[in-house]
Amino acid sequence: MKIVCVASECAPFVKVGGLGDAVFGLLRGLSRTQEDITCILPYYAALEQNRPDLEQHASVFMQFQGKKVGNTLWSTRFKNIFFLFVEPQKGIDLFKRDTIYGEKDDATRFMYFSTAVFAYLSNQPKSIDVLHLHDWMVALLAPLVRSSHETKVGHISLSIHNLDHWGICKASTLSHFPLTLFGGRKKISLLQEGVLSADSIITVSPSYAKEIIRMKSNPLAASIRTKQSRFCGILNGLDLEVWNPETDPYLAYPYSLANLEEGKRENRLSIGLKSSGICVGVIGRLVPQKGLELLYACILAILKARGHVYLLGDTNKPEHKKMFTSITHPNYHPFFTFDEALAHRLYGAIDLLLMPSRFEPCGLSQMIAMRYGALPLVYKTGGLADSVDDTKGFVFEKYTKTACLSALERARNNYFENRQSWQAKQRAAMTSVYGWDRAARAYIAHWKKGKAIF
Ligand code: ADP
Repeated sequence: MKIVCVASECAPFVKVGGLGDAVFGLLRGLSRTQEDITCILPYYAALEQNRPDLEQHASVFMQFQGKKVGNTLWSTRFKNIFFLFVEPQKGIDLFKRDTIYGEKDDATRFMYFSTAVFAYLSNQPKSIDVLHLHDWMVALLAPLVRSSHETKVGHISLSIHNLDHWGICKASTLSHFPLTLFGGRKKISLLQEGVLSADSIITVSPSYAKEIIRMKSNPLAASIRTKQSRFCGILNGLDLEVWNPETDPYLAYPYSLANLEEGKRENRLSIGLKSSGICVGVIGRLVPQKGLELLYACILAILKARGHVYLLGDTNKPEHKKMFTSITHPNYHPFFTFDEALAHRLYGAIDLLLMPSRFEPCGLSQMIAMRYGALPLVYKTGGLADSVDDTKGFVFEKYTKTACLSALERARNNYFENRQSWQAKQRAAMTSVYGWDRAARAYIAHWKKGKAIF
């Protein structure tokens, strides 16, 4: 099977959040049984810092906004996956920037990338069995490929990692493409165009798939419902090589189930925590989806009860940062940055991870926490509902501050007053996380069947 994956991020080359981990994890899972796998990414400035050995692979010319432009495709092979990076010609400054997303011209940037990939695919002699697209950034490739006779693609599969990001742009920006678009005359959603042209749509957990189907007033969900038989949810796996407390090079004291207590203690010391008390972590983007008001309430409650809080969260919204900088307490340690090494060290040190997301398509942080023997406190939604239950964490079912704080109280009582039960949950958590092989098999089965799994 020849599989071509197109994405806007893929660890370890470029990672902003769970998408980068998920794209790489799935590719690794697929690469264990499939030989011919290509992943195409933009050539970002970030690649220069961590530059893999790149070879010039091809030049691709295309029309973009009325001009003929050229691109260089650079290649490297990593873990049996063939990676291509698209670099626009000099003077087109779309990807050599400090940020990956959040620019005013994001829609144009990723339309450019999709157009370049399309031009490349149009020149490929060998047919592609599955073209796998990730999220709105590259969803335009689905209608582009379907409207062309030059690309030889058997099946187009679109993965939705978060239905909240639609990729809205002015319809006029697409007027130069020979496309029949489904959206309105003024504004369109690139994700919706992808949904309507793709042969199958996959999201990242079975519960999130069911939630999408039930979203009555969401036009994108309505488009997905028209293709319900070709839609399913497959729970993301976790890269068990990268996230392994026994071999994690970032940990001061690697540990396993056999010496968990000792491992936690030593790793607490390594982050400078000498005193006792429950050690609670928040590791994730500080965006409304993550339940900021519940996080805030939990942090205050833990500090009041003399626990310790480590927060590692990135945000570009000053009002969100202000919420968490306003807390001052000697036991509160906030880090407003993206720091991969610190994330690993924190997972190794904390007892409890707070993840009261309002909605969570899949979520990786809770899976990593479980693998590191830190119990997650989660709201029963999406992938959190599919990966955590009360045997390995603390789940609350009503999205209210009261329900969340009561789950926190249960966690504290369990930690201080019922060590046996706490340790049983840790054991269950550490042994319950799956790698990507299972998910990769489910993707292949779905592509082969071309119909829904749940
Ligand atoms: P999302 O995809 O919504 O960002 P996930 O839980 O699916 O959330 O994935 C988050 C991933 O990003 C995890 O691997 C987590 O450890 C990592 N992460 C999130 N924020 C940070 C940060 N500030 N520094 C380092 N890693 C982070």
